[in-house]
Amino acid sequence: MTVAPAPDGMVPHAAAPRELAKALGTDLRCGLSSAEAAARLRRHGRNELIAEAPVPAWRRFLAQFQDVLVVLLLVATAISAGLWLHRRDAALPYEAIAIFAVVLLNAAMGYVQETRAAAAVAALRALSANAASTIRDGERRRIAAAELVPGDLLLVEEGDTIPADARVVATTALTTGEAALTGESLPVHKSIDVVDADTGLGDRVNMVFTGTTATYGRGMAVVTATGMQTEMGRIAGMLTGATEEPTPLQRELDRTGKVIGLVVVGIAIVMSATIIVVGDVREAASIADVLIFGVALAVAAVPEGLPAIVTAVLAIGVQRMARRSAIVRHLAAVETLGSASVIASDKTGTLTKNEMMVRRLVTSSCGCSVGGSGYGPDGELAPDGGTFGDEARAEIDRLLTAADRANNADVTEQDGRWIVHGDPTEGALRVAAIKAGLRSADLAARLPRIGEVPFSSERKLMSTIHRDVRGGGNVVFAKGAPDVLLQRCTREVLGDGTRPLTEDRRREILHCNDLLARDALRTLGVAVREVPAEAFREGTPPDPSLEQELAFAGLIGMIDPPRPEAAAAVARASGAGIRSVLITGDHPTTAAIIAQELGISADGRAVTGAELERMDDAALVRTVAEVSVFARVDPLHKLRLVKALQANGAIVAMTGDGVNDAPALKTADIGIAMGVTGTDVSKEAADIVLADDNFATIVAAVEEGRAIFANIRKFLRFLLSSNIGEVATMFFGVLLASRIGLPSEHGTLVLPLIATQILWINLVTDGAPALALGVDPADASLMRKAPRARGERVITARMWRGIVLVGAIMAAGTLYVLDAALPGGFVEGRGTLVHGQTMAFTTLMLFQLFNVLNARSDEQSAFVRLFTNGWLWLAIALSIGLQLLVIHVPALQRAFGTVALGWSDWLRCVAVASSVLWLRELSKLATRALSRRGVE
Ligand code: ATP
Repeated sequence: MTVAPAPDGMVPHAAAPRELAKALGTDLRCGLSSAEAAARLRRHGRNELIAEAPVPAWRRFLAQFQDVLVVLLLVATAISAGLWLHRRDAALPYEAIAIFAVVLLNAAMGYVQETRAAAAVAALRALSANAASTIRDGERRRIAAAELVPGDLLLVEEGDTIPADARVVATTALTTGEAALTGESLPVHKSIDVVDADTGLGDRVNMVFTGTTATYGRGMAVVTATGMQTEMGRIAGMLTGATEEPTPLQRELDRTGKVIGLVVVGIAIVMSATIIVVGDVREAASIADVLIFGVALAVAAVPEGLPAIVTAVLAIGVQRMARRSAIVRHLAAVETLGSASVIASDKTGTLTKNEMMVRRLVTSSCGCSVGGSGYGPDGELAPDGGTFGDEARAEIDRLLTAADRANNADVTEQDGRWIVHGDPTEGALRVAAIKAGLRSADLAARLPRIGEVPFSSERKLMSTIHRDVRGGGNVVFAKGAPDVLLQRCTREVLGDGTRPLTEDRRREILHCNDLLARDALRTLGVAVREVPAEAFREGTPPDPSLEQELAFAGLIGMIDPPRPEAAAAVARASGAGIRSVLITGDHPTTAAIIAQELGISADGRAVTGAELERMDDAALVRTVAEVSVFARVDPLHKLRLVKALQANGAIVAMTGDGVNDAPALKTADIGIAMGVTGTDVSKEAADIVLADDNFATIVAAVEEGRAIFANIRKFLRFLLSSNIGEVATMFFGVLLASRIGLPSEHGTLVLPLIATQILWINLVTDGAPALALGVDPADASLMRKAPRARGERVITARMWRGIVLVGAIMAAGTLYVLDAALPGGFVEGRGTLVHGQTMAFTTLMLFQLFNVLNARSDEQSAFVRLFTNGWLWLAIALSIGLQLLVIHVPALQRAFGTVALGWSDWLRCVAVASSVLWLRELSKLATRALSRRGVE
């Protein structure tokens, strides 16, 4: 058993809070000073669990050579060098050098891509790093969890992931889930009592541990160990770095790549064998030439780099999303986002601003409006009749006193702006109390808090217990959803006293609540109860009966204006075939009104959690197909709703923020957590975290997801058609050698393109344009299409048709140029073999560059948005520049078997290569015409 001792050997769980605080040099009210915390951070290091040691750069570079195909190329290099030694036909082994250079270049590109992808993933991890609430210099502060030090005063709330090992010194029903550490699946209730030094980990109820979660309540604790000194840090073997599973898309491409690879290797073997047998190649050196060619063809045509490029494109896309405030935690979510067909969102803070302001107060004898704006304390209470009677005034004071006391928020002025720390709903109540002339400090002195039953989304209610300094007894203040709270009330406040709550009054209050909700106000009910001092002992968990037999004090209606961009985002989603569904804990009428305002539903229908509970699964599946607003739901209902939506075939993106939303977030196809108001637990369960909690960001992320997917398809079209073009050129070139004028001397090998040329095109000049397609800007039409169907292949039948067509055009065009450059064949030419091969080489390379423009769409003309991607043009220029070097620089000419081309040669290559653009334009025209007539 491990026991983490404090600096002077004290065992934290066996020490009383004061003793421990003294030993750790911390003040239980003010925490550490910033200076002391900084000094401790230097001494103890950052509060991080260090996973494996990072792999050094040289090892990552060398890992690029582990690929089978690269090994084959290295073998080819050796064979070529051996041949040169044997023949000594040139001053240097140019071919071997060229192949090796291509291998190195390829490895360098692979390395850069992987490093970029890893850096992007690391940056994202940093973005979603945990924060911790502490008290330092006597103030509440939110700091990076990595900066916690022993002695820090840590504040823990429901939904937090515990960031360090700490000794609990105050608790309000604090409960933690410790399964991650001890395997205990039941929640553990925390207390501040001392336990024996030799108590086992699972029973140290006065400690909280790194990596466990606060599932309920609140508490304060003194940090006793950080980083690798924590219990979690000590568990060897658990700290393997989180590895990202390959996404479905990556897996599919890996499979496709392997199939293509096998086919190509098969073709290469068949071709090499055919050349040897048919060409009657007997000489060992010539056989070696054929082998080098076979390897080059296989390597060139196998799309082995696909998964790496996909990762790079996904990672770049993820960075783009982060700039739009959507932080992706799992790469797979990026793909799924593109096919989302339902966005199930909560209301408060996502569709609305979560900037609450109390507008209406209603008690037994009066109604009044509250003026002002924001969280500023300026604003008057305006009673409906013009003036307050004594009774009304007393009721309003009681209502707002209770609302101010059953409250954990603070409102402070910073740089001239009033801001809320804590729940905005509660902040708004504090502000209303100030407007009514009630001073928080006076109320706190008169009614010190001695207990609390915390709020939860299931209970929709919270209560606090106070000592009444003047009256002697205790008083309970409760606030919550009016419909829920009323069920616990037997009386109602009237003036200074109370009277029994009749059924008629109950109905009246509910009706009044509905009227407030019709004005799109968020409503809260408040209740009070006086209890004898003996009914509650401070420091013990409150008895549930304290929240019964309450006296209803009144209703509070607050505005929470919709976010200005929300309606447009809902419309945009709907244009993209995505349905928005509202799932909220709020009142059905408020929810329905807001949903109507935002265009989520037109009929004003809302199904409540209670109704939902009465439905069986089949009924629910039917209901979710028709109804788009669900109100007064619990987190558990959310899970059923996700499943019902999925049963209808929807791909569901769902938002959540509480601890208990985690199962729904995990079940949804895309779980989305709130970055600002969300709990750590919900963030960990989610695939995406919204840095701004905004619904519009979800729609933006969907758009990015679609754009990334579209870009992956673009470079797939490009790379696969290029590969098919190259293989077909070589295959038919060898097959038709004598027909197209390729001189076939007995015993030697004559190819349309030589090995290094094929390698060059595929591994060098194709690389930059493919990457540039990966960052193609989003096309506006993306959000006018329906979502991608579940299970739709990355490469559709239509894509394959285009790919094969383009490959065929490339092969035909290249062989035509070769034929025309050589004597004999279908078209008579006068050039030498090297000249002909250089022409074919250049034409095939240029084909790729024209084809890049085709690859951007299967339907849209290449001339639409022709200049929107600067990278693409830069890549094209780079490839042309490299080609110029290869055919005009003497040393490279030797390595790549080229000769300089004249203007007219270039012109001919360009003219033929451009055919792929024109012909593909024609085929797209036909596709568009057919799809207008409804033919796929
Ligand atoms: P959404 O689910 O869209 O975020 P919500 O914030 O209304 O909406 P919950 O936080 O589950 O959902 O709240 C449900 C209900 O509980 C609210 O409508 C309100 O009546 C009540 N409520 C909310 N916050 C508090 C609070 N701090 N104290 C007491 N009652 C509250």
